[in-house]
Amino acid sequence: MSATLRLPSRGRRRNPPASFYAAIRRALLAWFRAHARELPWRETRDPYAIWVSEVMLQQTQIATVIPYYQRFLAAFPTVGDLAHAPLERVLELWSGLGYYRRARYLHQAAKMLVAKFQGRLPSDYAGLRTLPGIGDYTAKAVLSIAFNQPYAVLDGNVARVVARLFAQSGNLHQIKFRHTVERELAGLLSSHSPGNFNQALMELGQTVCLPRAPRCTACPVKKWCGGYRSGDAEAFPLPRPRRAAESHYLAVALLRRGTQVAMMRGLADGLLPDLWNFPAAFGASPAEALESLHEKLRGLTRAPFTLGEPIAEFRHAITYRAIQGRVYPVGTSRAVRHASLNWFELQQLPRAAISQLARKIEEKITRE
Ligand code: SF4
Repeated sequence: MSATLRLPSRGRRRNPPASFYAAIRRALLAWFRAHARELPWRETRDPYAIWVSEVMLQQTQIATVIPYYQRFLAAFPTVGDLAHAPLERVLELWSGLGYYRRARYLHQAAKMLVAKFQGRLPSDYAGLRTLPGIGDYTAKAVLSIAFNQPYAVLDGNVARVVARLFAQSGNLHQIKFRHTVERELAGLLSSHSPGNFNQALMELGQTVCLPRAPRCTACPVKKWCGGYRSGDAEAFPLPRPRRAAESHYLAVALLRRGTQVAMMRGLADGLLPDLWNFPAAFGASPAEALESLHEKLRGLTRAPFTLGEPIAEFRHAITYRAIQGRVYPVGTSRAVRHASLNWFELQQLPRAAISQLARKIEEKITRE
């Protein structure tokens, strides 16, 4: 039986028979029923909760997301609760999860849902795509998981499993590879349980078909897997070309007023626009960053000021930027007031909507 359902070798037959896809689909769904991890968003059919989980899971590990998801749903159990909350509160609950634009879009979308959709998520692709922050992937994930509609979702984990099953080289940045994977995925998709099917493929990619050292002996679909039979499953797909890390220097100003410190929205160069950060400037060298910070402070203080010797140093990474930074205390002859500055009690910073970088700096300076 299994011999007749094996992936036909390339060159002899281009398209496997429908029975080949059906056998994989059955094995995958049976495995998922038996092995699915218990995750909080799998305990609900509420489209809003599933949408929140899908947004949080973009670019973030499951273990990291779980406590954020639980706190977020406890604070905003419905679309209406989220829509009526201040953005500042939403960002506070997102603080530490990264990619803050996701939180801003969730908030905007919730407002739109209340205004135009009676507080309910639309159950059609076109309707979902009108909402801020809902792209092709999220729309299909929500429609399949929450509304049981036959949409296949394609993320890095799914692409890896499919590429190995069908022994396809390439990576998702290559259109031909992407089209091939999408075609095979469409053949595999379960029209009866599309949500479980999508989650099963993702789960397999996260727990068994790992990027390195896939656990093929524990895999429910190994007898149909071309990558496994090749003896080198890791060769599929090809690694995605990575953007090389770039060194950046950051000079940070510590402006104090009694027990308070000054913060600004955003970091510099358009980074972290939604979060509070210490006033700072980038440069190609420490001296250049310091000069840029001088320039920035001239606009903020509108009075003579001095920058002392650095009181702390740090390293931090934001996407491809490898940042080295120094924190400079600022001395001024008179009180600093500027519309873009917000003054925070140093003790309140851990609970404020500040960036991870600001959090790191705050920990350094309070230890000094
Ligand atoms: Fe991945 Fe191995 Fe399973 Fe193939 S047999 S899908 S390579 S874990």
